[in-house]
Amino acid sequence: MPDRIRVLLVDDDEDDFIIARDIMDDIPGRNYLLEWAPSFKEAIDIIREQRHHVYLVDFRLGAHDGLELIEQAVNEGIAAPFILLTGQSDRETDEKAMRAGAQDYLVKGTFNPYDLERSIRYSIEHAKSLAEIQKLNTELEQRVEERTQELAAAIQNLEKANRTLKKAQTEIYKALQKEKELHELKSRFVTIASHEFRTPLSTVLSSASLITKYKTAEDDEKRLKHVGRIKSAVHNLTNILNDFLSISRMEEGKIHNVPSTFDLQSFAAEVVDEMQGFLKEGQRIDYRHEGAQQTVYLDKQLMRNVMINLLSNGSKYSGENRTIWFMTSIQGDVVTLEVRDEGIGIPDEDKTHLFTPFFRAQNVTNIQGTGLGLNIVKKYVEIMGGELRYESQLGHGTTFTITLPYTAQI
Ligand code: ADP
Repeated sequence: MPDRIRVLLVDDDEDDFIIARDIMDDIPGRNYLLEWAPSFKEAIDIIREQRHHVYLVDFRLGAHDGLELIEQAVNEGIAAPFILLTGQSDRETDEKAMRAGAQDYLVKGTFNPYDLERSIRYSIEHAKSLAEIQKLNTELEQRVEERTQELAAAIQNLEKANRTLKKAQTEIYKALQKEKELHELKSRFVTIASHEFRTPLSTVLSSASLITKYKTAEDDEKRLKHVGRIKSAVHNLTNILNDFLSISRMEEGKIHNVPSTFDLQSFAAEVVDEMQGFLKEGQRIDYRHEGAQQTVYLDKQLMRNVMINLLSNGSKYSGENRTIWFMTSIQGDVVTLEVRDEGIGIPDEDKTHLFTPFFRAQNVTNIQGTGLGLNIVKKYVEIMGGELRYESQLGHGTTFTITLPYTAQI
């Protein structure tokens, strides 16, 4: 208990102040200082100064009542206790007083010094405990808040770690998948290479040994025939090796689009010329270019490879004396390339796998090939930003159409 307890009486009747002061004077020890506020307004101003240890508030305060005053003061955060002075003692008044925030109530005219002293002491102690509880509560709330924040941060860190782990997992999975694909590619390469190399190599061997046997001038024609066979076998081997090389360079991401400006018509005509030596007996390539424009801005290397692959297939999968129709065109902003043959065609059931590396249709088992060309063509076209379509009818022929964007970097 403080040495001197300062009490503020809020009451609009001075007589009540005098009575209260007299009662207080009779409290043994007399360590009380009673001050008086006669109105609601004056009272609230003094209360805000927080100079008193306890407030005695009359229920009746002119236009206001004591409960209003207590409520307002408590709402403003005043921690010192309030004791309501009422004219009657009943449960309803008691409850109202408590709800408004009063610690206790005393019935006017009935309380003696002992009652007053006891009520003041209890109220002060009670208010102290309340303040202590509130302090603890605030501290607890603060700790809960801190802990919640720590937990949220920990969760965030965990989520971040989880995301990193997942990313790493996907990358490892991708790398493994790639490794697996490469491994498959390598083992398929070994199988195909040993199989595909055998035929041209044995042709080279047998033709070479036959050439040594044809010694006379009359054998010239036969010798030339075998030289031709050797050439075509070597050409075959070169093609196979080039395909393998292209695939592995593609796998390593080493193929890039390096466009340059060139005349599409004369470029295609040169490729057609190159192909002449490798056509079957009586086969011809019918090439034409459509459109007044001839210059394009494309990757020559990729274009050459695409053309050679499609024209070789046209020839390989057509019979002797057949024509392979080759057309290039530039219309508006589209460059088109079309290779059409009247060959064996592609069975419908094989069409879905056509661009898978090493895939070969069931009707080509006795024709040499690796099943890599179309995969390369498709990828090269994609690298150049174009599209590849085809139509094929078994026994009637096949048409491959490539469209490429025309870029006016000319
Ligand atoms: P390859 O010709 O070495 O077998 P490609 O990748 O060039 O490999 O072709 C894959 C498969 O597509 C061929 O094996 C063949 O079955 C089919 N194909 C491609 N072009 C034609 C064509 N012009 N006519 C018929 N079938 C074709």
